[in-house]
Amino acid sequence: NQGAMLAVAVEQVGTDTTLAKITSAVEAAQSRKAPIQRLADQLSGYFAYGVMAIALLTFSLWSIWGETWLGSESGVSLLSLKLAIAVLVVACPCALGLATPTAILVATSLGAEQGLLIKGGDSLEAAHRVDTIVFDKTGTLTQGCPQIIDHYPLEDWTKTDLIQLAASVEQGSQHPLATAILKAAEQEALELWPAGEFTNMPGYGASAELYPPHRPPCICRVGNARWLAQSGIAIPATLETLTETLAAEGKTVIYLALNRACIGLLSLSDPLRPEAAQTVKHLQDLGLNVVLLTGDQPAAAAAIARQLAITDVIAQVLPANKAVEIAQRQAQNHCVAMVGDGINDAPALAQADVGIALGSGTDVALETADIILLSSPTATATLGGIEAVLRLSRATFAKIRQNLIWALGYNGLLIPIAAGLLLPKWGILFSPPMAGALMAFSSVIVVTNSLLLRDRFSGPRHYGKN
Ligand code: ADP
Ligand code: MG
Repeated sequence: NQGAMLAVAVEQVGTDTTLAKITSAVEAAQSRKAPIQRLADQLSGYFAYGVMAIALLTFSLWSIWGETWLGSESGVSLLSLKLAIAVLVVACPCALGLATPTAILVATSLGAEQGLLIKGGDSLEAAHRVDTIVFDKTGTLTQGCPQIIDHYPLEDWTKTDLIQLAASVEQGSQHPLATAILKAAEQEALELWPAGEFTNMPGYGASAELYPPHRPPCICRVGNARWLAQSGIAIPATLETLTETLAAEGKTVIYLALNRACIGLLSLSDPLRPEAAQTVKHLQDLGLNVVLLTGDQPAAAAAIARQLAITDVIAQVLPANKAVEIAQRQAQNHCVAMVGDGINDAPALAQADVGIALGSGTDVALETADIILLSSPTATATLGGIEAVLRLSRATFAKIRQNLIWALGYNGLLIPIAAGLLLPKWGILFSPPMAGALMAFSSVIVVTNSLLLRDRFSGPRHYGKN
């Protein structure tokens, strides 16, 4: 930069940076236990008592019957002590205890490397049981940046009037549709009218009192058919038939009303994410029931569902009812994952057994979700992360099962030998150092087996170009 001045704007520092948040999320995740781990911990607790009992039994039995079993009298008391110690040493509750956390540790760090933030072992465990996956439409399956396609002004109104009025009302809204309308107004360099009394009705639309220059103030409403119906405004029959055609093309229709009269409609279209269709197909191939859940009109939802080959569609759901729909599926004994961006669906993310949020979503979504799919600037396939998470979760639980079976089997085989079961007939016994080596070996095997997860999953990143 040589001698010139350099202005740097720091938006966030220290613990507020995205990197710091990711780090603390991963750290917190690795200390959150999976339910299966509680079982393993309990088991290792009983196991310790069991082993002490077996050691005591070994000592007593060998002291009493050692001479008979071996047929000689010398050193039986020393031998019984040595065998009892061998039992204590060879037994390895640590292999049982390590079986779960090592696999989870490997899986969560593998996930983080691939842009999948898994918030804990419990989330990972729930993910391998998921049989139903519910997708939000706007901003999740679609890119979340809709564009105005058609304008149908009624009477003397013009296309410009529609955009100008709608944008003036939407100044007070954060909805993706509002952003699209505001952007259109900006592109045409339209002046926004002063407005007051903004009302946002999630799932319906918005309204505001406008003060256009040289005209009396008016109340303007922007939203779907239900919003107009609720406000007691009739939709002209011509617009209703038009709506059907537009919605059948997958477009979202927004009406405009001035005071008590409908003055026209706008249709917006939000392109699907390029990877959406493939992701849905892969999830269906994994045996999952894929569901589309949206606040949009049924016809628009059906058109999108058709493009994605989704047959299970729940449309026109108010934001507050999205969580109820999820709960209903859960009541039918389904394990449900919900994928959303947090605009109107954070409660559903929290209700689901596994909430999956897109990293581009709202803060509240990132807080409530169990799994976050990070998007990178080069991300071309954010949704592909869902399949990656489910596969990772299934592989992790297969590993945990292997680890537990191995740890139990190993102990089940070696403890009797250490107790001297093979001594009378074959003369086989473990000296305490040998028992120690065998004990360590079982933990090494479990840890190595968990690390082998890396081998299967450190393939190409799920999001396209590296
Ligand atoms: P989704 O479930 O697809 O994310 P939402 O629940 O956010 O949809 O919204 C449902 C419907 O409510 C939208 O399709 C739109 O018709 C209407 N709507 C909600 N907010 C607004 C707004 N600010 N402006 C216009 N229409 C809105
Ligand atoms: Mg949404």
